[in-house]
Amino acid sequence: MGTFRNGTTRFLKAAIRKKKIVTPNIIPRSEHNISRANISENAVKVLYRLHNAGYQAHLVGGGVRDLLLGHEPKDFDIATDASPEEVKAVFRNCRLIGRRFRLAHVHFGREIIEVATFRGMHEDSQLADRNADNGMLMRDNVYGTIEEDALRRDFTVNALYYNIEDFSVIDYTGGMVDLEKGLLRLLGDPATRYREDPVRMLRAVRFAAKLGFRIDRACEAPLPEMGVLLRSVPAARLFEEILKLFMSGTAVQAFEKLRHYNLFSQLFPETDECLAHEDHDFPITFVVRGLHNTDLRIREGKPVTPAFLFAVLLWEPVRRITELLMASGEPPFLAVQQSGAEVIARQIMHTSIPRRFSMPMREIWQLQHRFEQHGGKRAKRLLAHPRFRAAYDFLLLRAEAGEADNDLAKWWTDMQEAKPEVRSRMTDKEGPVTGARRRRRRRSKPAERGDV
Ligand code: ATP
Ligand code: MG
Repeated sequence: MGTFRNGTTRFLKAAIRKKKIVTPNIIPRSEHNISRANISENAVKVLYRLHNAGYQAHLVGGGVRDLLLGHEPKDFDIATDASPEEVKAVFRNCRLIGRRFRLAHVHFGREIIEVATFRGMHEDSQLADRNADNGMLMRDNVYGTIEEDALRRDFTVNALYYNIEDFSVIDYTGGMVDLEKGLLRLLGDPATRYREDPVRMLRAVRFAAKLGFRIDRACEAPLPEMGVLLRSVPAARLFEEILKLFMSGTAVQAFEKLRHYNLFSQLFPETDECLAHEDHDFPITFVVRGLHNTDLRIREGKPVTPAFLFAVLLWEPVRRITELLMASGEPPFLAVQQSGAEVIARQIMHTSIPRRFSMPMREIWQLQHRFEQHGGKRAKRLLAHPRFRAAYDFLLLRAEAGEADNDLAKWWTDMQEAKPEVRSRMTDKEGPVTGARRRRRRRSKPAERGDV
Protein backbone atom coordinates (compact mmCIF):
# COMPACT_ATOMS: atom_id res chain seq x y z
CA MET A 1 0.00 0.00 0.00
CA GLY A 2 1.54 3.29 -1.04
CA THR A 3 1.68 6.27 1.27
CA PHE A 4 1.11 9.97 0.93
CA ARG A 5 3.71 12.24 2.39
CA ASN A 6 3.09 15.30 4.53
CA GLY A 7 1.85 18.25 2.58
CA THR A 8 -0.74 16.18 0.74
CA THR A 9 -3.49 18.49 1.91
CA ARG A 10 -1.78 21.60 0.66
CA PHE A 11 -1.05 19.87 -2.59
CA LEU A 12 -4.66 18.79 -2.96
CA LYS A 13 -5.96 22.25 -2.21
CA ALA A 14 -3.77 23.66 -4.92
CA ALA A 15 -4.85 20.88 -7.27
CA ILE A 16 -8.49 21.62 -6.60
CA ARG A 17 -7.91 25.32 -7.24
CA LYS A 18 -5.94 24.84 -10.40
CA LYS A 19 -7.80 21.75 -11.55
CA LYS A 20 -4.44 20.09 -11.88
CA ILE A 21 -4.25 16.39 -12.56
CA VAL A 22 -3.31 14.40 -9.48
CA THR A 23 -1.42 11.15 -9.85
CA PRO A 24 -3.37 8.50 -8.02
CA ASN A 25 -2.02 5.87 -5.77
CA ILE A 26 -3.07 2.52 -7.23
CA ILE A 27 -3.39 -0.35 -4.80
CA PRO A 28 -3.34 -3.66 -6.70
CA ARG A 29 -5.70 -6.54 -5.89
CA SER A 30 -2.98 -8.38 -3.99
CA GLU A 31 -2.60 -5.50 -1.53
CA HIS A 32 -6.18 -4.92 -0.38
CA ASN A 33 -8.99 -7.07 0.94
CA ILE A 34 -11.90 -6.24 -1.38
CA SER A 35 -13.28 -9.37 -2.95
CA ARG A 36 -16.06 -9.56 -5.52
CA ALA A 37 -17.69 -12.16 -3.28
CA ASN A 38 -18.54 -9.37 -0.80
CA ILE A 39 -20.09 -7.05 -3.38
CA SER A 40 -23.76 -7.45 -4.20
CA GLU A 41 -24.20 -9.68 -7.22
CA ASN A 42 -26.22 -7.03 -8.99
CA ALA A 43 -23.60 -4.36 -8.43
CA VAL A 44 -20.96 -6.71 -9.90
CA LYS A 45 -23.25 -7.29 -12.91
CA VAL A 46 -23.60 -3.54 -13.47
CA LEU A 47 -19.85 -2.99 -13.16
CA TYR A 48 -19.08 -5.71 -15.71
CA ARG A 49 -21.79 -4.66 -18.12
CA LEU A 50 -20.49 -1.08 -18.18
CA HIS A 51 -16.92 -2.29 -18.52
CA ASN A 52 -17.82 -4.63 -21.38
CA ALA A 53 -19.59 -1.77 -23.12
CA GLY A 54 -16.27 0.10 -23.13
CA TYR A 55 -16.80 2.43 -20.16
CA GLN A 56 -14.92 2.91 -16.93
CA ALA A 57 -16.76 1.36 -14.02
CA HIS A 58 -15.89 1.73 -10.35
CA LEU A 59 -17.45 1.03 -7.03
CA VAL A 60 -17.16 4.22 -4.99
CA GLY A 61 -17.98 5.93 -1.70
CA GLY A 62 -19.24 4.17 1.41
CA GLY A 63 -19.28 0.79 -0.32
CA VAL A 64 -15.51 0.78 -0.89
CA ARG A 65 -14.82 2.31 2.53
CA ASP A 66 -16.88 -0.30 4.34
CA LEU A 67 -15.49 -3.25 2.35
CA LEU A 68 -11.93 -2.14 3.10
CA LEU A 69 -12.86 -1.96 6.79
CA GLY A 70 -14.39 -5.41 6.64
CA HIS A 71 -17.92 -4.08 7.26
CA GLU A 72 -20.99 -4.93 5.27
CA PRO A 73 -21.85 -1.92 3.08
CA LYS A 74 -25.34 -0.43 3.22
CA ASP A 75 -25.43 0.19 -0.51
CA PHE A 76 -23.20 -0.02 -3.53
CA ASP A 77 -22.73 3.11 -5.59
CA ILE A 78 -21.07 3.04 -8.96
CA ALA A 79 -19.24 5.79 -10.81
CA THR A 80 -18.57 5.78 -14.53
CA ASP A 81 -17.46 7.97 -17.43
CA ALA A 82 -20.60 6.99 -19.36
CA SER A 83 -23.24 9.73 -19.49
CA PRO A 84 -26.63 8.91 -17.91
CA GLU A 85 -28.09 8.40 -21.40
CA GLU A 86 -25.27 6.05 -22.28
CA VAL A 87 -25.86 4.11 -19.06
CA LYS A 88 -29.54 3.89 -19.90
CA ALA A 89 -28.68 2.47 -23.33
CA VAL A 90 -26.69 -0.35 -21.70
CA PHE A 91 -29.47 -1.51 -19.33
CA ARG A 92 -33.09 -2.33 -20.01
CA ASN A 93 -33.96 -2.06 -16.31
CA CYS A 94 -32.64 1.47 -15.94
CA ARG A 95 -34.36 4.74 -15.07
CA LEU A 96 -32.87 8.21 -15.02
CA ILE A 97 -33.73 10.31 -12.00
CA GLY A 98 -32.90 13.72 -10.60
CA ARG A 99 -33.15 17.15 -12.08
CA ARG A 100 -30.17 18.78 -10.44
CA PHE A 101 -27.84 15.98 -11.31
CA ARG A 102 -29.06 13.09 -13.41
CA LEU A 103 -28.41 9.67 -11.96
CA ALA A 104 -29.09 6.26 -13.42
CA HIS A 105 -30.95 3.75 -11.28
CA VAL A 106 -30.58 0.17 -12.41
CA HIS A 107 -33.42 -1.90 -10.94
CA PHE A 108 -33.13 -5.55 -9.90
CA GLY A 109 -36.38 -6.35 -8.15
CA ARG A 110 -36.13 -4.43 -4.89
CA GLU A 111 -32.44 -3.68 -5.17
CA ILE A 112 -31.47 -0.47 -6.92
CA ILE A 113 -27.89 0.12 -8.01
CA GLU A 114 -27.12 3.79 -8.43
CA VAL A 115 -24.81 4.74 -11.26
CA ALA A 116 -23.43 8.28 -11.35
CA THR A 117 -21.43 9.90 -14.10
CA PHE A 118 -18.14 11.40 -12.87
CA ARG A 119 -18.81 14.92 -11.67
CA GLY A 120 -16.47 17.84 -11.99
CA MET A 121 -16.17 21.31 -10.51
CA HIS A 122 -15.27 23.76 -13.18
CA GLU A 123 -13.84 27.06 -12.19
CA ASP A 124 -16.44 29.31 -13.82
CA SER A 125 -19.32 27.08 -12.78
CA GLN A 126 -17.93 27.07 -9.25
CA LEU A 127 -18.58 30.78 -9.10
CA ALA A 128 -21.90 30.68 -10.88
CA ASP A 129 -23.21 27.85 -8.72
CA ARG A 130 -22.24 29.31 -5.39
CA ASN A 131 -24.68 31.41 -3.47
CA ALA A 132 -23.02 34.80 -3.22
CA ASP A 133 -24.12 35.38 0.37
CA ASN A 134 -23.21 32.18 2.12
CA GLY A 135 -20.98 30.21 -0.25
CA MET A 136 -23.45 27.34 -0.40
CA LEU A 137 -23.15 25.21 -3.48
CA MET A 138 -26.44 25.50 -5.34
CA ARG A 139 -25.68 23.18 -8.21
CA ASP A 140 -22.90 20.79 -8.97
CA ASN A 141 -24.08 19.50 -12.27
CA VAL A 142 -21.02 19.40 -14.45
CA TYR A 143 -19.60 16.14 -15.67
CA GLY A 144 -15.91 15.62 -15.13
CA THR A 145 -13.04 13.20 -14.96
CA ILE A 146 -12.48 10.59 -12.29
CA GLU A 147 -9.93 12.80 -10.50
CA GLU A 148 -12.34 15.70 -10.41
CA ASP A 149 -15.02 13.33 -9.18
CA ALA A 150 -12.69 12.24 -6.36
CA LEU A 151 -11.83 15.78 -5.30
CA ARG A 152 -15.43 16.94 -4.97
CA ARG A 153 -16.32 14.19 -2.51
CA ASP A 154 -16.47 14.94 1.19
CA PHE A 155 -13.90 12.85 3.09
CA THR A 156 -10.74 11.19 1.82
CA VAL A 157 -12.03 7.80 3.03
CA ASN A 158 -15.15 8.31 0.90
CA ALA A 159 -13.15 9.07 -2.24
CA LEU A 160 -11.75 5.63 -3.01
CA TYR A 161 -12.58 3.77 -6.23
CA TYR A 162 -12.62 0.01 -6.77
CA ASN A 163 -11.88 -0.50 -10.45
CA ILE A 164 -13.59 -3.53 -11.99
CA GLU A 165 -11.08 -3.55 -14.83
CA ASP A 166 -8.18 -4.85 -12.71
CA PHE A 167 -9.72 -5.02 -9.19
CA SER A 168 -7.38 -2.31 -7.95
CA VAL A 169 -8.31 0.48 -5.57
CA ILE A 170 -7.63 3.97 -6.91
CA ASP A 171 -6.76 6.60 -4.32
CA TYR A 172 -6.42 10.25 -5.35
CA THR A 173 -6.57 11.79 -1.91
CA GLY A 174 -4.71 9.72 0.67
CA GLY A 175 -7.89 7.94 1.72
CA MET A 176 -6.13 4.60 2.23
CA VAL A 177 -3.75 6.04 4.81
CA ASP A 178 -6.58 7.86 6.59
CA LEU A 179 -8.60 4.65 6.64
CA GLU A 180 -5.74 2.89 8.35
CA LYS A 181 -5.35 5.73 10.82
CA GLY A 182 -9.09 5.89 11.48
CA LEU A 183 -9.14 9.53 10.45
CA LEU A 184 -11.91 11.59 8.86
CA ARG A 185 -10.38 14.32 6.77
CA LEU A 186 -12.32 16.62 4.46
CA LEU A 187 -10.94 17.30 1.03
CA GLY A 188 -9.94 20.91 0.62
CA ASP A 189 -10.42 23.73 3.10
CA PRO A 190 -12.81 22.56 5.87
CA ALA A 191 -14.61 25.88 6.38
CA THR A 192 -15.21 26.24 2.63
CA ARG A 193 -16.47 22.68 2.35
CA TYR A 194 -18.86 23.15 5.30
CA ARG A 195 -20.09 26.40 3.83
CA GLU A 196 -20.74 24.70 0.49
CA ASP A 197 -22.83 22.07 2.22
CA PRO A 198 -23.38 22.34 5.99
CA VAL A 199 -24.70 18.77 6.12
CA ARG A 200 -21.07 17.69 5.85
CA MET A 201 -20.76 18.68 9.53
CA LEU A 202 -23.37 16.10 10.41
CA ARG A 203 -21.76 13.56 8.10
CA ALA A 204 -18.47 14.07 9.95
CA VAL A 205 -20.19 13.28 13.25
CA ARG A 206 -22.11 10.38 11.76
CA PHE A 207 -19.05 8.66 10.31
CA ALA A 208 -17.02 9.36 13.46
CA ALA A 209 -19.75 7.68 15.52
CA LYS A 210 -20.39 4.83 13.12
CA LEU A 211 -16.80 3.96 12.24
CA GLY A 212 -15.24 4.96 15.56
CA PHE A 213 -13.00 7.36 13.62
CA ARG A 214 -11.40 10.57 14.81
CA ILE A 215 -12.26 13.82 13.06
CA ASP A 216 -9.12 15.56 11.84
CA ARG A 217 -8.23 18.58 14.03
CA ALA A 218 -8.61 21.09 11.21
CA CYS A 219 -12.01 19.61 10.35
CA GLU A 220 -13.39 19.60 13.88
CA ALA A 221 -12.16 23.08 14.81
CA PRO A 222 -14.81 25.02 12.81
CA LEU A 223 -17.75 22.83 13.92
CA PRO A 224 -18.92 24.69 17.04
CA GLU A 225 -18.94 28.01 15.24
CA MET A 226 -20.24 26.89 11.88
CA GLY A 227 -23.11 24.84 13.26
CA VAL A 228 -25.47 27.79 12.75
CA LEU A 229 -25.19 27.18 9.01
CA LEU A 230 -27.41 24.14 9.50
CA ARG A 231 -30.29 26.61 9.76
CA SER A 232 -30.06 27.17 6.03
CA VAL A 233 -30.44 23.47 5.23
CA PRO A 234 -33.95 22.39 4.19
CA ALA A 235 -35.81 20.86 7.16
CA ALA A 236 -36.60 17.70 5.20
CA ARG A 237 -32.94 17.01 4.49
CA LEU A 238 -32.10 17.46 8.16
CA PHE A 239 -34.83 15.01 9.11
CA GLU A 240 -33.28 12.38 6.82
CA GLU A 241 -29.83 13.08 8.20
CA ILE A 242 -31.07 12.76 11.80
CA LEU A 243 -32.50 9.35 11.02
CA LYS A 244 -29.11 8.30 9.68
CA LEU A 245 -27.38 9.69 12.76
CA PHE A 246 -29.68 7.98 15.24
CA MET A 247 -30.76 4.84 13.44
CA SER A 248 -27.43 3.30 12.45
CA GLY A 249 -26.71 1.47 15.69
CA THR A 250 -24.43 4.14 17.21
CA ALA A 251 -26.95 6.75 18.29
CA VAL A 252 -25.41 7.28 21.75
CA GLN A 253 -22.02 8.15 20.28
CA ALA A 254 -23.66 10.38 17.67
CA PHE A 255 -25.63 12.22 20.40
CA GLU A 256 -22.53 12.74 22.53
CA LYS A 257 -20.54 14.07 19.60
CA LEU A 258 -23.34 16.35 18.43
CA ARG A 259 -23.47 17.81 21.93
CA HIS A 260 -19.70 18.06 22.10
CA TYR A 261 -19.53 20.10 18.88
CA ASN A 262 -22.57 22.17 19.82
CA LEU A 263 -24.49 20.86 16.82
CA PHE A 264 -27.31 19.23 18.77
CA SER A 265 -28.52 22.70 19.69
CA GLN A 266 -29.01 23.46 16.00
CA LEU A 267 -31.10 20.37 15.44
CA PHE A 268 -33.14 20.23 18.66
CA PRO A 269 -32.85 23.70 20.21
CA GLU A 270 -35.64 23.23 22.72
CA THR A 271 -34.35 19.90 23.99
CA ASP A 272 -30.84 21.28 24.13
CA GLU A 273 -32.06 24.19 26.22
CA CYS A 274 -33.64 21.75 28.69
CA LEU A 275 -30.46 19.70 28.85
CA ALA A 276 -28.35 22.79 29.44
CA HIS A 277 -30.49 24.00 32.34
CA GLU A 278 -31.04 20.66 33.96
CA ASP A 279 -30.72 20.56 37.70
CA HIS A 280 -31.07 16.79 37.70
CA ASP A 281 -29.48 14.32 35.29
CA PHE A 282 -32.86 12.96 34.40
CA PRO A 283 -33.30 14.42 30.90
CA ILE A 284 -29.88 13.32 29.71
CA THR A 285 -30.23 9.91 31.32
CA PHE A 286 -33.58 9.52 29.63
CA VAL A 287 -32.35 10.52 26.16
CA VAL A 288 -29.19 8.41 26.42
CA ARG A 289 -31.17 5.39 27.58
CA GLY A 290 -33.67 5.87 24.79
CA LEU A 291 -30.91 6.07 22.21
CA HIS A 292 -29.12 3.11 23.75
CA ASN A 293 -32.31 1.05 23.47
CA THR A 294 -32.57 2.03 19.82
CA ASP A 295 -28.97 0.91 19.27
CA LEU A 296 -29.65 -2.43 20.93
CA ARG A 297 -32.78 -3.02 18.88
CA ILE A 298 -30.94 -2.27 15.68
CA ARG A 299 -28.13 -4.62 16.60
CA GLU A 300 -30.68 -7.33 17.40
CA GLY A 301 -32.38 -6.76 14.04
CA LYS A 302 -35.59 -5.46 15.68
CA PRO A 303 -37.59 -2.67 14.05
CA VAL A 304 -37.19 0.90 15.24
CA THR A 305 -39.47 3.77 14.36
CA PRO A 306 -38.63 7.43 13.89
CA ALA A 307 -41.79 8.21 15.89
CA PHE A 308 -40.37 6.62 19.04
CA LEU A 309 -36.99 8.22 18.47
CA PHE A 310 -38.43 11.72 18.08
CA ALA A 311 -40.82 11.12 20.99
CA VAL A 312 -37.74 10.43 23.15
CA LEU A 313 -35.77 13.39 21.83
CA LEU A 314 -38.58 15.88 22.42
CA TRP A 315 -40.05 14.48 25.63
CA GLU A 316 -38.34 16.82 28.06
CA PRO A 317 -39.71 20.05 26.55
CA VAL A 318 -43.13 18.41 26.23
CA ARG A 319 -43.00 17.23 29.84
CA ARG A 320 -41.99 20.64 31.15
CA ILE A 321 -44.70 22.54 29.31
CA THR A 322 -47.26 19.93 30.34
CA GLU A 323 -46.33 20.48 33.98
CA LEU A 324 -46.65 24.24 33.63
CA LEU A 325 -50.06 23.92 32.01
CA MET A 326 -51.20 21.51 34.69
CA ALA A 327 -49.98 23.86 37.37
CA SER A 328 -52.20 26.53 35.87
CA GLY A 329 -55.19 24.21 36.10
CA GLU A 330 -55.27 22.47 32.72
CA PRO A 331 -56.40 18.84 32.98
CA PRO A 332 -53.50 16.44 32.24
CA PHE A 333 -54.89 15.08 29.01
CA LEU A 334 -55.41 18.52 27.48
CA ALA A 335 -52.11 19.77 28.87
CA VAL A 336 -50.06 17.07 27.17
CA GLN A 337 -52.07 17.44 23.98
CA GLN A 338 -51.33 21.14 23.84
CA SER A 339 -47.67 20.90 24.80
CA GLY A 340 -47.09 18.12 22.27
CA ALA A 341 -48.65 20.18 19.51
CA GLU A 342 -46.62 23.25 20.47
CA VAL A 343 -43.29 21.47 20.67
CA ILE A 344 -43.82 19.71 17.34
CA ALA A 345 -44.90 22.96 15.66
CA ARG A 346 -41.65 24.61 16.76
CA GLN A 347 -39.47 21.60 15.99
CA ILE A 348 -40.60 21.30 12.38
CA MET A 349 -39.13 24.72 11.72
CA HIS A 350 -35.75 23.04 12.26
CA THR A 351 -36.23 19.49 11.12
CA SER A 352 -39.34 18.31 9.39
CA ILE A 353 -41.32 15.48 11.00
CA PRO A 354 -43.69 13.85 8.53
CA ARG A 355 -47.23 13.48 9.86
CA ARG A 356 -47.05 9.72 9.75
CA PHE A 357 -44.50 10.05 12.57
CA SER A 358 -45.78 13.09 14.46
CA MET A 359 -49.22 11.53 15.00
CA PRO A 360 -47.91 8.40 16.76
CA MET A 361 -45.46 10.59 18.72
CA ARG A 362 -48.32 12.55 20.17
CA GLU A 363 -50.17 9.36 21.01
CA ILE A 364 -47.13 7.96 22.82
CA TRP A 365 -47.00 11.14 24.91
CA GLN A 366 -50.74 11.22 25.56
CA LEU A 367 -50.87 7.62 26.72
CA GLN A 368 -48.30 8.31 29.43
CA HIS A 369 -50.91 9.96 31.57
CA ARG A 370 -53.47 7.28 30.86
CA PHE A 371 -51.14 4.63 32.28
CA GLU A 372 -51.70 6.15 35.68
CA GLN A 373 -55.43 5.48 35.58
CA HIS A 374 -55.79 1.80 35.11
CA GLY A 375 -58.80 0.96 37.21
CA GLY A 376 -61.95 -0.70 35.85
CA LYS A 377 -62.18 -1.08 32.08
CA ARG A 378 -59.50 1.48 31.39
CA ALA A 379 -56.55 -0.90 31.52
CA LYS A 380 -58.08 -3.29 29.01
CA ARG A 381 -58.94 -0.46 26.68
CA LEU A 382 -55.38 0.79 26.88
CA LEU A 383 -53.97 -2.67 26.21
CA ALA A 384 -55.95 -2.76 22.97
CA HIS A 385 -54.72 0.65 21.85
CA PRO A 386 -52.67 0.42 18.64
CA ARG A 387 -49.92 2.51 20.25
CA PHE A 388 -49.91 0.59 23.53
CA ARG A 389 -46.61 -1.24 22.95
CA ALA A 390 -44.63 1.86 21.98
CA ALA A 391 -46.16 3.87 24.83
CA TYR A 392 -45.39 1.08 27.31
CA ASP A 393 -41.75 0.92 26.12
CA PHE A 394 -41.67 4.69 26.62
CA LEU A 395 -43.04 4.31 30.15
CA LEU A 396 -40.33 1.74 30.95
CA LEU A 397 -37.68 4.19 29.78
CA ARG A 398 -39.11 6.93 31.94
CA ALA A 399 -39.13 4.60 34.92
CA GLU A 400 -35.56 3.47 34.25
CA ALA A 401 -34.47 7.08 34.08
CA GLY A 402 -36.21 7.78 37.39
CA GLU A 403 -38.92 10.04 36.03
CA ALA A 404 -41.89 7.66 36.18
CA ASP A 405 -42.83 5.39 39.02
CA ASN A 406 -41.19 1.97 38.89
CA ASP A 407 -44.23 0.40 40.55
CA LEU A 408 -46.45 1.76 37.82
CA ALA A 409 -44.19 0.35 35.11
CA LYS A 410 -44.10 -2.98 36.92
CA TRP A 411 -47.89 -3.03 37.23
CA TRP A 412 -48.17 -2.74 33.45
CA THR A 413 -45.54 -5.38 32.89
CA ASP A 414 -47.40 -7.77 35.20
CA MET A 415 -50.67 -6.88 33.58
CA GLN A 416 -49.47 -7.93 30.16
CA GLU A 417 -48.02 -11.18 31.41
CA ALA A 418 -51.02 -12.07 33.58
CA LYS A 419 -53.67 -14.66 32.73
CA PRO A 420 -57.14 -13.18 31.96
CA GLU A 421 -58.62 -13.95 35.40
CA VAL A 422 -55.65 -12.36 37.13
CA ARG A 423 -55.99 -9.34 34.86
CA SER A 424 -59.57 -8.83 36.01
CA ARG A 425 -58.48 -9.02 39.62
CA MET A 426 -55.73 -6.51 38.97
CA THR A 427 -58.07 -3.98 37.43
CA ASP A 428 -60.74 -4.45 40.09
CA LYS A 429 -58.41 -2.90 42.60
CA GLU A 430 -57.38 0.57 41.71
CA GLY A 431 -53.78 -0.56 42.03
CA PRO A 432 -50.97 0.90 44.05
CA VAL A 433 -50.08 3.97 42.09
CA THR A 434 -53.17 5.67 40.74
CA GLY A 435 -54.09 9.16 41.73
CA ALA A 436 -51.37 11.61 42.58
CA ARG A 437 -48.42 11.52 40.26
CA ARG A 438 -45.33 10.33 42.03
CA ARG A 439 -42.00 11.11 40.64
CA ARG A 440 -38.76 9.75 41.85
CA ARG A 441 -35.72 11.31 40.49
CA ARG A 442 -32.40 9.68 40.72
CA ARG A 443 -29.37 11.78 41.15
CA SER A 444 -27.11 9.14 39.70
CA LYS A 445 -24.79 9.69 36.76
CA PRO A 446 -26.24 9.38 33.25
CA ALA A 447 -26.35 5.79 32.05
CA GLU A 448 -23.01 4.41 30.99
CA ARG A 449 -22.95 2.81 27.60
CA GLY A 450 -24.00 -0.79 27.85
CA ASP A 451 -25.41 -0.50 31.30
CA VAL A 452 -29.13 -0.56 30.53
P1 ATP B 1 -23.41 5.35 3.98
O1 ATP B 1 -24.16 5.04 2.72
O2 ATP B 1 -22.77 4.19 4.62
O3 ATP B 1 -24.19 6.16 4.93
P2 ATP B 1 -21.74 6.86 2.20
O4 ATP B 1 -20.37 7.42 2.35
O5 ATP B 1 -21.94 5.86 1.12
O6 ATP B 1 -22.16 6.30 3.60
P3 ATP B 1 -23.76 8.35 0.86
O7 ATP B 1 -24.65 9.41 1.38
O8 ATP B 1 -24.36 7.06 0.39
O9 ATP B 1 -22.70 8.07 2.01
O10 ATP B 1 -22.90 9.02 -0.29
C1 ATP B 1 -22.09 8.28 -1.17
C2 ATP B 1 -20.82 9.05 -1.47
O11 ATP B 1 -21.12 10.30 -2.10
C3 ATP B 1 -20.00 9.42 -0.26
O12 ATP B 1 -19.15 8.38 0.14
C4 ATP B 1 -19.22 10.62 -0.76
O13 ATP B 1 -18.13 10.22 -1.56
C5 ATP B 1 -20.22 11.31 -1.66
N1 ATP B 1 -21.03 12.31 -0.91
C6 ATP B 1 -22.22 12.11 -0.30
N2 ATP B 1 -22.66 13.24 0.28
C7 ATP B 1 -21.74 14.18 0.04
C8 ATP B 1 -21.62 15.57 0.37
N3 ATP B 1 -22.56 16.19 1.10
N4 ATP B 1 -20.52 16.24 -0.07
C9 ATP B 1 -19.57 15.61 -0.80
N5 ATP B 1 -19.63 14.33 -1.13
C10 ATP B 1 -20.68 13.60 -0.74
MG1 MG C 1 -23.78 4.96 0.57
